[in-house]
Amino acid sequence: MKRLVGCLLLVLLLASAALAGLDVHFLDVGQGDSILIVTAQEKTLLIDGGTEDAGRRVVVPYLQDLGVEKIDVLVATHPHVDHIGGLIPVLASFPVGRVIADGQIHTTRTYERFLTAILEQDIPFHTPKRGEYIALPGTDEILVLHPGEDLLPGLNNNSVVLRLVYKDVAFLFPGDLEARGEKTLLASGLPLAAQVLKVPHHGSKTSSTLEFLQAVSPRIGVIQVGADNVYGHPDEKALENLKAAGAMVFRTDEYGRILIRTDGADLQIFLGPPLDLNEASLEEIEALPGIGPVLARRIVAGRPFGSIEELTNVPGIGPGTLRKLRGLIRVSEVEAKCASAP
Ligand SMILES: [Zn+2]
Repeated sequence: MKRLVGCLLLVLLLASAALAGLDVHFLDVGQGDSILIVTAQEKTLLIDGGTEDAGRRVVVPYLQDLGVEKIDVLVATHPHVDHIGGLIPVLASFPVGRVIADGQIHTTRTYERFLTAILEQDIPFHTPKRGEYIALPGTDEILVLHPGEDLLPGLNNNSVVLRLVYKDVAFLFPGDLEARGEKTLLASGLPLAAQVLKVPHHGSKTSSTLEFLQAVSPRIGVIQVGADNVYGHPDEKALENLKAAGAMVFRTDEYGRILIRTDGADLQIFLGPPLDLNEASLEEIEALPGIGPVLARRIVAGRPFGSIEELTNVPGIGPGTLRKLRGLIRVSEVEAKCASAP
């Protein structure tokens, strides 16, 4: 597939008007995972936060740009630094309703600081087991598929695995699960089928067995992976198996941020970071859903914007349009622009 960097591409898989309902943001945290789920009721669930550096540089600013005020549920799939590190700055920057974690003990400083941040704020902490449900308004079901009663060897294989259902669409988030964990999932008899799969363990060769992928049968596989990473992720065999299972693959090292939006029936995929309305070209603004040439010209005439909310000052743009644009646009600092003006 052609490499696209820094631009917004809309892939409409099934004919539909602009969708609304559930947004799943796969953040570009380099080598690591961070996934934000925002429901139609504006409830938020964050799965992992990348490394601590990525949490500070990418995750916290992204959430702020999006106007997120609270993380309702924060999930730490397992204690590796490329998953929990970035949750430390998130915990320092946003109120968090509750934390869900795998419960495996890890003796790193990062893990200690992660736990300390939770304890200091007295945030409810829960280690769920297979078969439990996590309530989040705006979703129909979030089922915990893993870990099971008995822990497996290795931190990755005990990742918290969630299957989220919204109407007719399911997403599977398996953390860094490897082949052994995939096997126990297959044996569990729990539902695995999902249109969208967060590919386990960054596309490692120790995960994505064909049997597992065939049971999930994803239309879309998202790989969160760093460019030129030292682990050789994603592995050729994993990519081959994804193809054999019928999945289209999208990688954060190729596209940057990946946003999947669904109304519970159709899926839209937005590739690349949100568009900066204060800097974007007329053509780029025109291509946004619900905009077109007339509104694009009005937006350009109304620049600079100090916040996304100010867009509703543009005639023809109401809260409904703004809602569709959430996650697709951002506005850069206005002050710097004013200072450089003659
Ligand atoms: Zn990882």
